[in-house]
Amino acid sequence: MKYSAARGHELRQRRQLGCPPNDVTTSLPEKGDLLSQIARSHSSALIDTPEHASDRLERCENRIQSPSCRTVSSKENEMNRALLDFYLCPKHFIDFWLTGQLSSDAGYFRFGQSTTCYGRSASGYRASHVDAGLYDILMDAETDTTNVRIPFDPTEVIDNLRLERYANEDCGALSRWERSLKGIYYQLRPLMHAQIRKHIQRAHLNGWRNLPFPHWPVDTTVEDLCTQLLLLSMNAKGVNEVPFIWFWPDGAQSCVAMTHDVETETGRDFCDQLMTMDESFGIKASFQLVPEGRYEVSETFIQVIRDRGFEVNIQDLNHDGNLFRDRREFMRRAQRINEYGAAYGASGFRAAVLYRNLDWYDALRFSYDLSVPNVAHLDPQKGGCCTVMPYFFGDTLEIPLTTTQDYMLFHLLNDYSLDLWKTQANQIVRKNGLVSFIVHPDYVIDQKARDVYRDLLTFLRDLGRGGKLWFALPGEIDRWWRARREMRIVEQNGEWRIEGKSAEHAKLAFARVIGDQLKYEVAV
Ligand SMILES: [Zn+2]
Repeated sequence: MKYSAARGHELRQRRQLGCPPNDVTTSLPEKGDLLSQIARSHSSALIDTPEHASDRLERCENRIQSPSCRTVSSKENEMNRALLDFYLCPKHFIDFWLTGQLSSDAGYFRFGQSTTCYGRSASGYRASHVDAGLYDILMDAETDTTNVRIPFDPTEVIDNLRLERYANEDCGALSRWERSLKGIYYQLRPLMHAQIRKHIQRAHLNGWRNLPFPHWPVDTTVEDLCTQLLLLSMNAKGVNEVPFIWFWPDGAQSCVAMTHDVETETGRDFCDQLMTMDESFGIKASFQLVPEGRYEVSETFIQVIRDRGFEVNIQDLNHDGNLFRDRREFMRRAQRINEYGAAYGASGFRAAVLYRNLDWYDALRFSYDLSVPNVAHLDPQKGGCCTVMPYFFGDTLEIPLTTTQDYMLFHLLNDYSLDLWKTQANQIVRKNGLVSFIVHPDYVIDQKARDVYRDLLTFLRDLGRGGKLWFALPGEIDRWWRARREMRIVEQNGEWRIEGKSAEHAKLAFARVIGDQLKYEVAV
């Protein structure tokens, strides 16, 4: 094969973009060939579904073939996308390049002392499990005054965490064995005594406290990785502060969202009282309703929720735990779910029991999703998105669940204190993240649990004193996150300014290097 300058350029582009090299012919190989090549190169990363590989292929091809990418400038470097989307700072502050060719296999390594990464890398080794001996890739970063070269792709690693692609057969996505157990469990469930159900669930949980990753009880790996990368970039450029668009409207330190999943008729009939309780603390919540097979959902019921300023979302279709079991059946159900979404006027979706498969979400037509836990050690489907911030996948906004569900707290941990919720809330607020809850009307009817919920509302109200927290409905978070995404920071007469729709609610913030740490400060 003749090696031309153009060919060299294309190979370099492919490397930078994280696309597989196409060294068979000078033109792009047949889609099928490249597809299987991609599938092969990601076989250990659980992302080798045909749908996924074909998406990825398309993304790669688009990036390589579109005229704007012909001359890939640093501004268009895909590696920097996740970090730029996170901070929305001026582009020139974030300018990472690869040190070399990425491995074909994916695995765990760390970036600095305690930040666990999962993906491909260009140096050291990648482990198949998280343990004490992870390779620290930070020592292979190369910096000069203009840019920083690192041996991994931050966008790929962040996607792998948020989309739970790290979760392997041992501790993550559903293994075949787990699936079959779950099938039996769900078929027998209506016949089982509550105590037996709890016993089975506790048995399933055995050993969860020893799971090293994600970090219990809150995982902020994505946020930690973003701050460390920005710090590295600032140190390399000799920059002391970077302006960015603050995460929440009107300079709020953090955001709090309460959500209620309605499981049974008893729960449905308790919603009225629950709304009164929430309102007495100045909190509005969203209700996720099961459209089929559980209880009747009347128009009046939906209207009453709305009239009181609460929100209605769709929860699954019939809550049988089988939504993502079979692709064809899922497609059939997705259509029904979409119809209910339109009929209820709902723009948000949550999968029952947080059984999820984000790779299939293109069949669902909702603006946002509420199905991904931050760390899922107590949930039937392990994993977790390792972030306490909302994030986009495709054009859907994920609003993750960042605290433990009431059911798990009361019935699996047998804990009727606020300790865990307080610990989680405080850790999340320290990272300026979203503190989100699932509290089921069904499980807070009895007095003991109801008292804990009342204590939680009291705690949240006190935490929010001084106007530091934004209490928001998921729909409001969705609208804000979409508006923020479209905003830009511009420099005018030596001053930074935010432009865009709803920019009047946006606050300029600065990331500053203090000692060896990065600190955020919202401009007044
Ligand atoms: Zn549910």
